[in-house]
Amino acid sequence: MSFKDLKLNRPLLRAIAESGYNNPTLVQEKTIPLVLDKKDIIVSAQTGTGKTAAFALPILQLLFDRQDAPKKGKTIKALIVSPTRELAIQIEANFKTYSSYTNLRTTVVYGGTSIEPQKEILTKGIDILIATPGRLLDLHKQDIVNLDYVETLVLDEADLMLDMGFIDDVKKIERLCTKEKQILLFSATIPYKVEQLANSILNAPERVEV
Ligand code: AMP
Repeated sequence: MSFKDLKLNRPLLRAIAESGYNNPTLVQEKTIPLVLDKKDIIVSAQTGTGKTAAFALPILQLLFDRQDAPKKGKTIKALIVSPTRELAIQIEANFKTYSSYTNLRTTVVYGGTSIEPQKEILTKGIDILIATPGRLLDLHKQDIVNLDYVETLVLDEADLMLDMGFIDDVKKIERLCTKEKQILLFSATIPYKVEQLANSILNAPERVEV
């Protein structure tokens, strides 16, 4: 299978080719069509399998398709929640690379660093936000982040997120987004507590295992 078979548009295909990717990985082959189909999914995949592109590429595709929407660049339409700052930064770098031939705007926010520059970028408006839970809720409380227009919510490394004690924050974030959103849950392992979380917030999820 090729990336073209996955029905990705030309600006994305160009960025993928420049990244040196020849073919989709297994998790990408299985996940991308489900995301484009607006399904909720639970994906068990380790780091190194290409899982970031498995959610980033179809999210960009969905947003690119409606680039002329009136709220373009003004509202957060995709939110990726990550347990750690390092992972968040890495995810943002991937989104930036894959979206380099689109004019979709991406930024990342995390704790342990000054909040002011993050506020400035968010105030100008973005399409895709990558965030760690605490800083995200902080920015929401300060009315800097509006989650009313989030169409796709990604919970990355959900097992680690729960191990780090973010369960209540994750649930709160989920409730702050619109009800109709699509949720993509990625986890290296699916222990009982991840299963429970999925049961409580996902809607008839499809499962992907690699
Ligand atoms: P991840 O599992 O998202 O941490 O990705 C692991 C590494 O694989 C990253 O360095 C990606 O840039 C790379 N990668 C992702 N998709 C592909 C692909 N289809 N072909 C080759 N490399 C890829």
